[in-house]
Amino acid sequence: MNSQWTIVEAGFVAGAAALDQLPPPALAEVAFAGRSNVGKSSLLSALLGRKSLVRIGSTPGTTRQLNLFQARAADGLELLLVDLPGYGFAKRAKHEKSRWGPLIEGYLSSRVTLRALVLLVDARRGVEPEERELVDYLRTAGAKTARGPVSIIVVATKIDKLAGAKRKPAIERIGRDLGFRAYGFASPSGEGREELWRVLRQAVLACTTDT
Ligand code: GDP
Repeated sequence: MNSQWTIVEAGFVAGAAALDQLPPPALAEVAFAGRSNVGKSSLLSALLGRKSLVRIGSTPGTTRQLNLFQARAADGLELLLVDLPGYGFAKRAKHEKSRWGPLIEGYLSSRVTLRALVLLVDARRGVEPEERELVDYLRTAGAKTARGPVSIIVVATKIDKLAGAKRKPAIERIGRDLGFRAYGFASPSGEGREELWRVLRQAVLACTTDT
């Protein structure tokens, strides 16, 4: 059966190691952020429905560029999924004011086509200061630029690693800690994929009709 969120076409669009290497803003974008090894590549690969497109399990900290993937759903909706470099691998040097680096900060604060940020949290690990800071950063950044409002969607990853009865409480706790509803995801079974697509589409479409 072809659900509206069935991805009929997916492909790699561009990698950008600097903001000026990004393609000109056109389609709505949804960015994905999370600690290295949180399961970001696995989630992207599941959403795109193409195993070979996104590299999974690469050495933490090695991807320092933004990777843009295009997805077209069965009903014609097109958007870009943007893989942000994983954080939390290298310790921040004392003199460094910025935790995320100019690339992530520049993208999050100024990309006019950014509609939603999917923030991934390992279900077993829970929310740590970096995730709270990223939410705060996104809320304050963009206030001075042309960027519009960005929805925050929290995903608890690797829920299959928790015993059944512990899953729901862990997902809810992560949501509560960040002040948003959280959605669970397990890449081995793909559990949570359809619900997440539904939420992503809502975020993208809501912004499109607002403007
Ligand atoms: P990234 O560094 O955030 O892109 O994380 P990856 O997607 O590369 O995943 C890191 C490791 O966790 C890999 O060995 C994956 O196979 C594993 N992994 C990712 N997602 C899940 C999940 O939902 N369940 C389980 N059990 N393992 C996962």
